[in-house]
Amino acid sequence: MSGENGLGLSNPIFISMSRIFDESDLLQIAGVQHFFYCERQWALIHIEDMWAEDGRTAKGRVVHQRVHEPKYSRRQGDVITTTGMMVRSLVHGFYGICDSVEFIPSDIGTELPGRDGFFQVRPVEYKVGKPKRDNLDAVQLCLQCIALEEMIMAEIREAQIFYHETRRRQSVNIDDQLRTESLSLIKRMRSLYDRGETPRPEFGKRCNNCSLSELCMPRMGQGWSSVSEYIDHMASEQTHEKTP
Ligand code: SF4
Repeated sequence: MSGENGLGLSNPIFISMSRIFDESDLLQIAGVQHFFYCERQWALIHIEDMWAEDGRTAKGRVVHQRVHEPKYSRRQGDVITTTGMMVRSLVHGFYGICDSVEFIPSDIGTELPGRDGFFQVRPVEYKVGKPKRDNLDAVQLCLQCIALEEMIMAEIREAQIFYHETRRRQSVNIDDQLRTESLSLIKRMRSLYDRGETPRPEFGKRCNNCSLSELCMPRMGQGWSSVSEYIDHMASEQTHEKTP
């Protein structure tokens, strides 16, 4: 097989039709889950660079590492699978990693560099738990598909999520409604990111399960636009106290 991923896409990050966002200015697709949970939590992590890990997030990281570590391609029958594939959209300004992308021979598929024939492209995402009531997993997967489409110039209509707890795959239609919803979320994130704005804390039930609650101080920081601002203020207060 040619190239790092065996598909001739050894450096897929350079395959693109448009260049609007700079590669150093892309938002993480993985941040969507933080944003969905709490916009302030996302801003603390992705704008203010704060992070705290609990057992739940550590478990998620281990499962993902298992998928991401071996960057190889394997062939099962006619299907070629590549893992840990970085994808990015310079048109929409985000990036992420596809746990796994399957290339399935299909007469209505797309051509791939260095490969004969046509292939249907199907990303597969691996999740720790079981299917949830919200469609957040589908939104993240959709964003991966949008980025991958931009890179390989192919339309992706279907992707799948494998849930670790149920050990089953769930099919996701990458339709117009899901695309619009997913890109709307990215636009809102971009708006806050460009302004460097961390939303003020709003204490609620979700705060009890938030891995950033100690850093966020949702009951204390109501008057501060960022934790950095709050810490700077407290430091200056202490300096004044020590001054005779
Ligand atoms: S503690 Fe509450 S307000 Fe603060 S980041 Fe977490 S969920 Fe958001």
